[in-house]
Amino acid sequence: MKKQFAVIGLGRFGGSVARALCEMGYEVLVVDKNEQRIQDFSNIATHAVVADTTDEEALNALGIRNFDIVVVAIGEDIQSSILTTLILKELDVQTVVVKARNALHGKVLYKIGADKVVYPERDMGIRVVHSLISPNILDIIELADDYSIVEIHAGEFFSGKTLKDLDIRAKFGCNVMAIKSGDRINIAPLASDRINEGDILVVIGHNDDLQRLEEKA
Ligand code: ADP
Repeated sequence: MKKQFAVIGLGRFGGSVARALCEMGYEVLVVDKNEQRIQDFSNIATHAVVADTTDEEALNALGIRNFDIVVVAIGEDIQSSILTTLILKELDVQTVVVKARNALHGKVLYKIGADKVVYPERDMGIRVVHSLISPNILDIIELADDYSIVEIHAGEFFSGKTLKDLDIRAKFGCNVMAIKSGDRINIAPLASDRINEGDILVVIGHNDDLQRLEEKA
């Protein structure tokens, strides 16, 4: 059976999460205290309900504990975000994903039981900065505070060279995990594998080392 989602707060982030889930064919309940926002989603979401989610009774009445994943996308009003998260965990919702405005907000959310905290503005900012440092950076996934996986578009620096020639592990302390060439992906690259211009390298490493590599790329 497909997972059931609820999205609380239909601002820019929550609205975009709800739209994407609906487009992927999931059943989505959307909740907002603002009637106009709920009107805007009445034809998009499976169920759209006006409610203040800091009211435990109101949340309970929605049968919120039956949803597999609840996304709390209340950004501005930190108090409402925290109260809503607390109530959801007290009602035994399995997975609660919450958008945080800043690190302190995120810390509080984890302390009260949030299963995952996301920082969409911060993460997008980081992505944009990487693409500005090197237009060849296609994507970045943060693994831990100091470690990431990046997708690098192979330009002149890499072109025509083997992994042995490039010696990325010794020179930059990073590991090439995979090489994508068009539709093909090589997930166990060998030292003798040659990189062609236009290939995409998937590289894992410490952020400082990745930055040195990005500046070359
Ligand atoms: P973004 O920064 O992603 O645009 P906002 O903080 O502007 O997010 O939007 C949050 C949404 O959450 C708004 O539509 C607001 O009406 C809704 N919201 C805020 N507090 C509550 C609450 N207590 N119960 C339900 N919805 C809420």
